[in-house]
Amino acid sequence: MGNKRTEKVAIVTGGASGIGLAIATEFVKNNIYTIIIGRDLEKLEKAKESLGELCETISFDLGNLSGIPALVSDIATRHGKIDILVNNAGINMKREFWDVTDEDFMKVLQTNVVSVFTISREVVKCMLEEQQGAIINISSMAAQYGIPKVIAYTASKSALDGMTKAMAVELSPKGIRVNAIAPGFIATDMSAKALNNDPERKQKVMSRTPMGYLGEPADIGTAAVFLVSDAAKYITGVVLPVDGGNSVGF
Ligand code: NDP
Repeated sequence: MGNKRTEKVAIVTGGASGIGLAIATEFVKNNIYTIIIGRDLEKLEKAKESLGELCETISFDLGNLSGIPALVSDIATRHGKIDILVNNAGINMKREFWDVTDEDFMKVLQTNVVSVFTISREVVKCMLEEQQGAIINISSMAAQYGIPKVIAYTASKSALDGMTKAMAVELSPKGIRVNAIAPGFIATDMSAKALNNDPERKQKVMSRTPMGYLGEPADIGTAAVFLVSDAAKYITGVVLPVDGGNSVGF
């Protein structure tokens, strides 16, 4: 690896919009050099404009598994290390159970689980050289309780929670902490698609969220800053709900 950057270096997948952008924004505020990966060039450019010097964007489709090792080693070579990985990129699909095709199911699993595994494996190889690192997987309430019409998404986020625990026990002895954040219902394009044309679902969400309103993407951003900081140096293997109480709501 090349000369080491003095700031911490983070990769945030899907960091050009919604929750990922909020995480990248909070990282930059905290002087973390943040590399955003996404597919939509326009979104990437906008993010770079608003985040400035401490932000770099890379256009890459994480479905391209065979391209991931070169992507990661290029980042590590240019910056000398990778301190933080946030696996935030994800897709949802709201459809009745009986209408979900094998292709639909595989597509969600591919993005939300398989790509997460592949990029994590490659980043961990770099982190092992430094004997330190922090990984956050962005999970969902869909892995905490049953939500109808999101079978593939639920399977994928439940797998992610399992991976978080398995990674934590194997990697923590090597100095790499692995945690997940389970956002509740956060105001982004993804949740708008799921809730806006479905008043009954929205009512259900609000009625079991004790705080009574949707979260802001920044609520996840600040939680991520905490989890990757030294303030969380003894925290590993947890799935942290950031949800206005939704996961314990009646
Ligand atoms: P968005 O749709 O705004 O963000 C998803 C991001 O993932 C986009 O920036 C997208 O970039 C990126 N992405 C998707 N597929 C790929 C791919 N193949 N390669 C590279 N980038 C990809 O949604 P949110 O911000 O709401 O979601 C972010 C995460 O938070 C997801 O994992 C989601 O499951 C989770 N979450 C969201 C909740 C919510 O209420 N909003 C609740 C619980 C969890 P591009 O468009 O450039 O491909």
